[in-house]
Amino acid sequence: MVVGELVEQVDLLVIGGGPGGYVAAFKAADLGVSTAIVEDGPMLGGVCLREGCIPSKALLHVAHLIDEAQHVGQFGVRYGKPEIDIQQLRAWKESVVERLCGGVKTLADKRQVRVIQGRATFEDPRTVRIEGAESGRVRFKHAIIATGSRPKLLPESVIPRDCYLDSTQALELERVPKSLLVVGGGYIGLELGQVYWGLGCRVSVIEALERIVPAADEDLARPLVSRLTKQFEAILPSTKLIGARRVDGGVEVKWSHKGAEDTRVFDAVLVSVGRQPNSDGLRLENVKVALDERGFIKVDEHMRTSEKRIFAIGDVAGEPMLAHKASHEGIVAAEVVAGRPAKFDARAIPAVVYTSPELAWCGVTESDVRAKNLDVEIGKFPWGASGRAIAMGRPEGLTKIIADKATHRVLGVGIVGEGAGDLIAEAVLAIEMGAEAGDLAMTIHPHPNTSETVMEAAEGVFGKPIHAVK
Ligand code: FAD
Repeated sequence: MVVGELVEQVDLLVIGGGPGGYVAAFKAADLGVSTAIVEDGPMLGGVCLREGCIPSKALLHVAHLIDEAQHVGQFGVRYGKPEIDIQQLRAWKESVVERLCGGVKTLADKRQVRVIQGRATFEDPRTVRIEGAESGRVRFKHAIIATGSRPKLLPESVIPRDCYLDSTQALELERVPKSLLVVGGGYIGLELGQVYWGLGCRVSVIEALERIVPAADEDLARPLVSRLTKQFEAILPSTKLIGARRVDGGVEVKWSHKGAEDTRVFDAVLVSVGRQPNSDGLRLENVKVALDERGFIKVDEHMRTSEKRIFAIGDVAGEPMLAHKASHEGIVAAEVVAGRPAKFDARAIPAVVYTSPELAWCGVTESDVRAKNLDVEIGKFPWGASGRAIAMGRPEGLTKIIADKATHRVLGVGIVGEGAGDLIAEAVLAIEMGAEAGDLAMTIHPHPNTSETVMEAAEGVFGKPIHAVK
């Protein structure tokens, strides 16, 4: 292996070391393919480990502890107001990130996957140019593009760039503002909103659509909205940001809500209105890789782009932009490169909002049922009838199972409640295995446990949950 202006040869070059790229590289190496990863950032791990899933969950964990400490007041246990050492909290979050990124590098070394630090651009369908800490050219037999995504920005005419934080900046935790406006009520905005609320900030959310977490069914989103309504200063759906400027004491924002305009000042603003694929800047004009109208790289079920030897996975290859979807696609692409007959044919990709309560779903939702006119039976089990949820003082959850009416095959599951993100794994397996609602209902679940709500909701498909009446 050579660094500098010399040319290196590898069987597989993976561009981007996030959960798509590094998983693809490790799988390929395990299948005997000589593999290198080129990564522009300082460490392997991508957005997920460095500025996404992991740091957000580390901070959410702390916010949940603070929330819980307040919550136990109702059981007769009282703690004082938390003292927050922001520097120590930041250092702890960074230690979590460093530990995990370091672990990925160790795994790469053990597999003899070479990691090249620099930015890759295509020169032709067999060659990539690298510029950065290491520079040169790499010739490859196959390449996997796993360059991920970055926060979508709003037009300068609406809000100048120096007036707001994006999710990456919010996770740096420079300071805790007194008041924060979150623009965008998707999962990233709500998770970060709850982090800052936990740290003592007054949080407001505006969302252009009719409700927050619009991707989830309304009855599942309701318990979350109701808790956030108690925590946040305001949640304003159908509200669009129309202007902003820096003023003494923060940022003055102007929004329109159902035709009426309002102006408020916030100490800080976080814009989380989605993410855009990192497909520009790769010099794709030098290869035949085609993009769709939103800039995602077009791929087939083998993760192959329109250029036969080049694959694309993860956020850059389309929605849903989630780490586990990126990793799964990475495994598919690596297997295809190694000559195995693999394709992406997952029946369900779970989505989890890691707020408190958590909100998780997979497979079809009730909106899909309506849009596709599916003939289904729906079983629901309210957590107000779950012994464990009541014992935790968190009975506000709901578990829902959508099954095909004729076959009772499980088509979709949605859960809101403490730990819903863990519970959804059983549902994903059920859908993947083609399980029927009766299989879930007849499976013995541990007691007392919120997983029993899955069993009870499955019984509800047949109209008879034991611990609830329809
Ligand atoms: P990325 O993780 O984006 O990695 C791409 C890598 O490619 C980066 O390291 C980048 O530096 C590198 N790169 C880009 N261009 C080049 C180039 N030209 N040359 C070399 N290197 C390059 N997902 C979940 O599943 N669960 C969650 O809880 C979750 N929480 C999130 C919270 C936040 C705040 C954010 C922002 C995202 C969250 N996500 C979550 C989404 C998740 O982080 C992404 O879906 C995931 O990281 C995508 O993986 P990837 O491998 O496609 O790309």
